[in-house]
Amino acid sequence: MLDTASLVELLAQPQKIVITTHHKPDGDAIGSSLGLYNYLIQQGHHAKVISPTDYPEYFNWMPGNEEVMIYTDHPEEAAGLINDAKIIFCLDFNALSRINEMGELVGKSSAVKIMIDHHLEPTDFDDYRCWNINACATAQLVYTFIVDVLNHKELVNKDVATCLYVGIMTDSASFHLPNTTADVHRITANLIEAGAVNWRIYDLVYNNSPENRLRFLGLCLSEKLEVLHEYNTAIIAVTKNDLEKYDIKTGETEGIVNYALSIAGIRLAAFIVERKDVVKLSLRSKGEIPANDICKRYFDGGGHYNAAGGHSADSLDEVVNKFKLILPLYKKLLIK
Ligand code: 5GP
Ligand code: MN
Repeated sequence: MLDTASLVELLAQPQKIVITTHHKPDGDAIGSSLGLYNYLIQQGHHAKVISPTDYPEYFNWMPGNEEVMIYTDHPEEAAGLINDAKIIFCLDFNALSRINEMGELVGKSSAVKIMIDHHLEPTDFDDYRCWNINACATAQLVYTFIVDVLNHKELVNKDVATCLYVGIMTDSASFHLPNTTADVHRITANLIEAGAVNWRIYDLVYNNSPENRLRFLGLCLSEKLEVLHEYNTAIIAVTKNDLEKYDIKTGETEGIVNYALSIAGIRLAAFIVERKDVVKLSLRSKGEIPANDICKRYFDGGGHYNAAGGHSADSLDEVVNKFKLILPLYKKLLIK
């Protein structure tokens, strides 16, 4: 492990730096990566954000977005950058499996690896760690890294602030999850003072849906939603065909699970989707229902206590049935 003084010294000189984040990046993954990028370039570093996969259009307006490299589009060039990097920042993930094929390249690179993350159970591949599961977003940790560890509050400019605001806004579900503490609001206030235009950012992220996504949401709510009152659980399961019919890209299903959880009395919601060669689950829960435990035990996944995901090689119907069979095991917590 590297100590903070050595890290500060290392960052005092321009370095070749790669910033990466988990595959299918969400607002926090891309926002924290670009927030850090916009900070590092002010220091003269040669920084590159490499995302394992692409991401939805409503995140591609952020400052620095045009400089992001998508690994699957340029695997050789990306491998070269990873190979040459002196420092690799790993943001919003803590296991190399979360960055697909890039995991092997990052794992064997001799670069100093810095993990900034808020997920449970980090694995040991890093040399320096800013990790806190109580943080509402990795973007919050990037802010404290720049301001408190590196002492560079003055370098949180409008671009940095805008990107970090996106991370905090999206991961806190627009400031309503329990981990949206007073501290988070203080940081957010600082970001607004630094130039983040909160109402415009909200509009760009949330009021920027393609028409097909809204119509697909209509299908999910009117035809796909199944409410199991006995278990205070709601399920939305969609097939590959549904996705194709509405031309839905991966990122565009994000957030649909929250509609299922918004039904009065519902404490556990599952969005189950049949993708090309895998069935993916997204679970959201309230209170003491351990969504991550369910994903870890039964669906080869994990995540946060109330927001987790997993996957299965079984068919969509089999996964839905398996999920329903698990509910009695959690009945005490579900009907509390
Ligand atoms: P989502 O439902 O939005 O895909 O994921 C919710 C949370 O669960 C995210 O924080 C994500 O990191 C985690 N997660 C989703 N899928 C997986 C998975 O397959 N494995 C693990 N370990 N975590 C996952
Ligand atoms: Mn996050």
